[in-house]
Amino acid sequence: MSAGDGWSLVYDGFDPAQERLRESLCTLGNGYFATRGAAPEAVADAVHYPGTYVAGCYDRLPSVVDGRTLEHEDLVNVPNWLPLTFRRPGETWFSLHDVEILSYRQELDVRRGVLLRRVRARDAAGRTTRVESTRLVHMAAPHLAALETSITPEDWSGPLEIRAALDGRVVNDLVARYRHLAKDHLVGVETAAVGDDGIFLKVRTRQSEIAIAQAARIRVFEGDRRVGHVRPVIAGPRHVAQDTVLDARAGTPLRVEKVVALYTSRDLAISEAGLEARTAMARAGSFGELLRTQAIEWEHLWRVFEVELDVEPNGLVPGDGAVATVALVRLHIFHLLQTASPHTKDLDVGVPARGLHGEAYRGHVFWDDVFVFPFLNLRMPEITREILLYRYRRLDEARMAARAAGYRGAMFPWQSGSNGREETDVQFFNPRSARWMPDHSHLQRHVGAAVAYNIWQYYEVTGDLEFLVEYGAEMLLDMARFWASAATYDPVLDRYEIHGVMGPDEYHDRYPGAERHGLSNNAYTNVMAVWVLARARDVLDLMPANVCRRLCERLAITDAEITEWDTISRRMRLVFHADGILSQFEGYEALKEFDWERYRERYGSLYRLDFILEAEGDSTIHYKLSKQPDVLMLFYLFSFEELRSLFRRLGYPFDERTIPATINYYYPRSAHDSSLSRVADSWVLARADRPGSWDVFMEALVTDVADIQGGTTPEGIHLGAMAGTVDVLQRCYTGIELRGDVLWLEPRLPPQLRRLRLFVRYRGQSLLIELEGDAASVQAMHCVAPSVRVAVNGEVHDVAPAEVRRFGVR
Ligand code: BGC
Repeated sequence: MSAGDGWSLVYDGFDPAQERLRESLCTLGNGYFATRGAAPEAVADAVHYPGTYVAGCYDRLPSVVDGRTLEHEDLVNVPNWLPLTFRRPGETWFSLHDVEILSYRQELDVRRGVLLRRVRARDAAGRTTRVESTRLVHMAAPHLAALETSITPEDWSGPLEIRAALDGRVVNDLVARYRHLAKDHLVGVETAAVGDDGIFLKVRTRQSEIAIAQAARIRVFEGDRRVGHVRPVIAGPRHVAQDTVLDARAGTPLRVEKVVALYTSRDLAISEAGLEARTAMARAGSFGELLRTQAIEWEHLWRVFEVELDVEPNGLVPGDGAVATVALVRLHIFHLLQTASPHTKDLDVGVPARGLHGEAYRGHVFWDDVFVFPFLNLRMPEITREILLYRYRRLDEARMAARAAGYRGAMFPWQSGSNGREETDVQFFNPRSARWMPDHSHLQRHVGAAVAYNIWQYYEVTGDLEFLVEYGAEMLLDMARFWASAATYDPVLDRYEIHGVMGPDEYHDRYPGAERHGLSNNAYTNVMAVWVLARARDVLDLMPANVCRRLCERLAITDAEITEWDTISRRMRLVFHADGILSQFEGYEALKEFDWERYRERYGSLYRLDFILEAEGDSTIHYKLSKQPDVLMLFYLFSFEELRSLFRRLGYPFDERTIPATINYYYPRSAHDSSLSRVADSWVLARADRPGSWDVFMEALVTDVADIQGGTTPEGIHLGAMAGTVDVLQRCYTGIELRGDVLWLEPRLPPQLRRLRLFVRYRGQSLLIELEGDAASVQAMHCVAPSVRVAVNGEVHDVAPAEVRRFGVR
């Protein structure tokens, strides 16, 4: 793999073992749908896995697992629009498996949003053919995708058949761990020919009854001249194909254009998905036009989302490591924008933890929002508003879930899909022991606090009081109500406690020997609950009095309840170890130390330590270890000042030594088993050890390209890690913090990061922030937007439209 000119991901040579990883990393999408970078001639087999996923297109199926019937919801693998292959009449269709590959190059061009592949191959009869293809999923016309393939016979002439298809026989079969589950989500509805150059396929999902329609226009050209004649369409219930027959001439390229339109019955402003797909196909421009408009659209996006950085060369990947670092940052932004884009508006979707790039976690939405949100929020808050609206529309479901669990207010699910029902499975399969392990991760009630945190971030960035009044306040108040009902008062301690939960560390879901699941007084959960309760109060104060009264009446919130929230937010219990370290949860101190050395020696990689220990008849719950940052997440989400004020509010000590001492305690006890770990770690370390932070940042940056978890990226990218790394650059190393109507800037560039230049949108103003060494400048770019308040070195300045302010960083 190499990074080309810093705007691409280049693979030379075909490597079957790497193919699924490349497919994930070379996925093309536009927020509405995405298609893995699978070869057009491939079907799902041991090497390839074509997959196309439409945002929000979920379906539920029952499966019998371990003797029980369980229902699972999947982000559906919809029909494959890519298929395109060719053959000499009577011979086998072109496939990489049957030819000698003379040269092979695949390039993902993130500047224009296209995937290119160049293959030279010799077939069994000794004939050499060049196949060059370019594909795109259109960023300006979200229902369109296109593939152009040029086939050049180098040393032969004669009849050729080209087959283009739409294949609805696909199933959800990418993730081996889910092999016990039902996977066939589609039912065929209609297949047809459209005019003399088109094919059409309509299917629907079995349970959610979403109609999915695709129409493809296929034309073959020699130079500018259309050539070939089309044979009658071949169609089955879920498959439709069109063959073009022509004469190929040695040295003359034949160019095949396949332009595809995709609609579903979830779309707005449509009559019927099939009609819209056919109409869009007929109206679509040529491949050349689509390519041109695609490049323009991406250029516009890059103007808003680019992060410029100048880094020391490093040994990250072969070639120039500095260029590769820049390319990887761009790759992460690229995949983020392919999952959540300007088209996310009105789709009513959240951001799946694994993007629209595969089937891991079944396309569900987790708390990973908290990592994904901030980068987008400071660039295009129109997108983050939509991510919050996805939660708002599922508030009633969250209320029902709280009630069913014996609480009040709203309890968002740990895993969310179509309608906000809890989608977390009750068990997962340990391939090491071939046993099912119970899954209690739904006890991570902190997911709601992440939603609340993002609401507040959105408000701080935009000042959008209307959003707060219409949607945000209601969610925050109901979440405050939830935490108040989850807290129980201990009269002896005169403190409130929260029992029966899990923190972000999924390796502790219960106490050793305990029957019941859940832990008491998880520090992260308790502090987040306090923060939500305190914010709810702020929101009430912010809203105009009549609006506030109306909302309180509607939600039946009384003055006594508001007073109770305030009391709980001042008397929540945190547990400390004997030496004063904040305990991950009550009882953590009594757990055993884990022998990291011994296990490293025995197993090498300690990835999925929970599987390793379970297979040995042991469990992670017995040890002082964590899957990922738990207490340390507090330092990821809050600044020193914010934490000090939260701890003061609770009457607990917090000073300059607290952060380094807590990092020193927990960091070495982390297994870094979640892709989110390195992001949070590099952030947290930036406070104490900047060069060390950069090294960890680099590890986070290669999470997916190097597939550091050994096999998870082929199942879908890790969106939280991708977005989170870019956010480390955007907010952590710049020290951007949004607090009290001020953008606080406290640059802390690691020495390896020589220069950073980026735009953020704050309160309607576009700010260009440049950092180099100990110099910083802020420029307000919009002449017509308002002045904004920016603080550097603790001093607040008004930055007027078009004004540039320069600072020396202390
Ligand atoms: C992590 C969670 C995360 C989920 C989805 C899990 O492995 O432990 O924190 O939300 O993956 O990315």
